[in-house]
Amino acid sequence: MGYRKGTAVWVEDKDHAWVEAEIIESSEKSISVLTTDGRKITTTNEKLLPRDGDADHGGVDDMTKLAYLNEPGVLFNLAQRYSLNEIYTYTGSILIAVNPFTRLPHLYNVHMMEQYKGVQLGELSPHVFAIADASYRQVMAMMHDRRSQSVLVSGESGAGKTETTKLIMQYLTFVGGRVTGDFRSVEQQVLESNPLLEAFGNARTVRNDNSSRFGKFVEIQFDRTGRISGAAIRTYLLERSRVVQIMDPERNYHCFYQLCASGKVNQDAEKYKLDNPRNFHYLNQSKTYELQGISSSEAYQKTRRAMDIVGITLIDQEAIFRTLAAVLHLGNIEFSPGEEHDSSIIKDEKANFHLRMAADLFMVDANLLFTTLSTRTIQTREGSIMKALDCSAASAGRDALAKTVYARLFDWLVENINKSIGQDPDSRFQIGVLDIYGFECFKNNSFEQFCINFANEKLQQHFNEHVFKMEQEEYRREEINWSYIDFVDNQDVLDLIEKKPIGIISLLDEACMLPKSTHGTFTTKLFQNFQSHKRLQKNKFSQADFTLSHYAGKVTYQTELFLEKNRDYIVLEYQALLSSSKCPFISGLFGLQKEEPSRSSYKFSSVASRFKQQLQALMETLNSTEPHYIRCIKPSSLNCPQMFENQSVLHQLRCGGVLEAIRISLAGYPTRRTYSEFVDRFGILAQEIIYERFGEKTLTERIIKKLKLENFQLGRTKVFLRAGQIAILDARRAEV
Ligand code: ATP
Ligand code: MG
Repeated sequence: MGYRKGTAVWVEDKDHAWVEAEIIESSEKSISVLTTDGRKITTTNEKLLPRDGDADHGGVDDMTKLAYLNEPGVLFNLAQRYSLNEIYTYTGSILIAVNPFTRLPHLYNVHMMEQYKGVQLGELSPHVFAIADASYRQVMAMMHDRRSQSVLVSGESGAGKTETTKLIMQYLTFVGGRVTGDFRSVEQQVLESNPLLEAFGNARTVRNDNSSRFGKFVEIQFDRTGRISGAAIRTYLLERSRVVQIMDPERNYHCFYQLCASGKVNQDAEKYKLDNPRNFHYLNQSKTYELQGISSSEAYQKTRRAMDIVGITLIDQEAIFRTLAAVLHLGNIEFSPGEEHDSSIIKDEKANFHLRMAADLFMVDANLLFTTLSTRTIQTREGSIMKALDCSAASAGRDALAKTVYARLFDWLVENINKSIGQDPDSRFQIGVLDIYGFECFKNNSFEQFCINFANEKLQQHFNEHVFKMEQEEYRREEINWSYIDFVDNQDVLDLIEKKPIGIISLLDEACMLPKSTHGTFTTKLFQNFQSHKRLQKNKFSQADFTLSHYAGKVTYQTELFLEKNRDYIVLEYQALLSSSKCPFISGLFGLQKEEPSRSSYKFSSVASRFKQQLQALMETLNSTEPHYIRCIKPSSLNCPQMFENQSVLHQLRCGGVLEAIRISLAGYPTRRTYSEFVDRFGILAQEIIYERFGEKTLTERIIKKLKLENFQLGRTKVFLRAGQIAILDARRAEV
């Protein structure tokens, strides 16, 4: 298309993705533009997109109101609003939340919650409370046929998912709470489950000082009158390796540092001989001990208080912190080679002290702890034999024990929070809130990224289907013609990952069970089975890698640790050791022996398969609800306020499916106005007919025809316009 001189455009830019410009010369072959920062660029048609030259500097609160709903338009609208501290923007019914990285108290006070109560979505400025209110109101409005709701919050690490989730829960407890002022009301318990789970499941990472290392789905139950009557929390894939291995400047889970700082509050730290976190191997692998702006001892008090409110007894609280202390001492048990070949002994007196401390705190026999760590029983046809372990095997076993204990402790917490808050079997509807890791693509991607991206593929499918279905339904309801557009369906990636009997997870499980398999044989088999799958690629340089074409882009996975990480050993010796504990809490963590005894003392259970099942269950729940989506965006990689990195934001919009949703919407008629809205706004353009006795629909048609607009459809109650047409109408209106 030829451009007129002076036309406002966006021009592609290496550093900023897009920059504002104006056409200065346009011919068949080339186009020259002048950018607003004064550069003259010669470019081609493909690198240009139309820009709304009269766009309001405040931006629009819903992307669908943009005159040109294109990528740069969306990006700059967000940037513009962000610079004015307007962190929320709608894209239709999806809420985009850009992390402000600074407290905005005026946005979240009770007054704000009051304002949003019962108000139609879109009437007030975009807000997380508006989404929470919509989910609540939609069920309350329907006396019969009430459908549960879900709010799906996604975004990359540090984008603000957890903070957003907490705001939703805060709002729901506000509208669905009782005015009792009870210290341990269901709502208080629901709210306090957050700091408690954060203490045990969040840690400092390079991306976020308070990064959730697990996924979470909180289902809040409501009774017939709309009051909160119970809640259920499900968690997903806690990162276990962090308990024993960290790298500067990351930290281990917050609870360990809180416990070490408890000295100012009670005698815990002294009692458990935890003078200084710097003395413990599981903490001193990183030099970071403190978090900016947070006192560990105050955090410890908060965790204790949360435990009180949630209803964890003082006896259990004591046992929980004692178990944490035991884990820290366990980590300091060092080994040196024993006299016998490939055997190990306790390294020195210091290590011996920690062995005794760990045994004391676990309330198990110190000798039994030592044998458990330094030997392994192997079942043979002739009976069982005891095999000594060398130092590295003993240390690895020690770490495995620590991880198992921690994981069980975390599961216990979740289970007990659920028990204590209580489930309402007669609940009339639920509102679920999902806070789960977003799509990840790093320089090195391992098993964790594989699982996380698998989850995101699932959620993306759900999202696309929903957005697409919503569009279709609207068109059908309005009885207008619409040709179906195809969106990129990701069923093929999902099949590749999860299909039985042959898919990546099945092949991985098989490799984990066959004794001679390695990550190399696993990838070989993978490529044998999927020789020319368009979503799967080999890596030219490394045979052990595979690349998946995810909906959000390609990710190359390094498989070196896939087998190891997928194996969830339940070593029988650990089970035996800890179930012998004189502490009922600890023996309770290990008491239930659900599995059948087997010949080997290792029992394989697949992490990926279990995750797949959990996801399946989650999807079933979500499919029975009406979803609401919130996409969190991290505008600055440095976590600084008022910084907005275009390229990164665009990437996130793509990963969150926002651009795809826009594409789906654009392919149809993205602008809709009810006839009365339309006539109210544009009647002025046809004053000569407005006073005649036409219905609003006819009036609308007349106005549009008078202005010679072409691409429009008249639905039952609304007029549907192609992208950008409202801008033409507005321009005409401005001329009147
Ligand atoms: P992860 O995936 O690592 O758990 P996340 O998406 O859950 O990340 P959050 O922990 O919610 O990220 O947010 C990171 C930080 O960003 C918060 O600790 C807070 O400092 C800031 N933040 C997020 N949302 C808001 C908000 N609405 N107002 C003020 N600050 C916020
Ligand atoms: Mg989080």
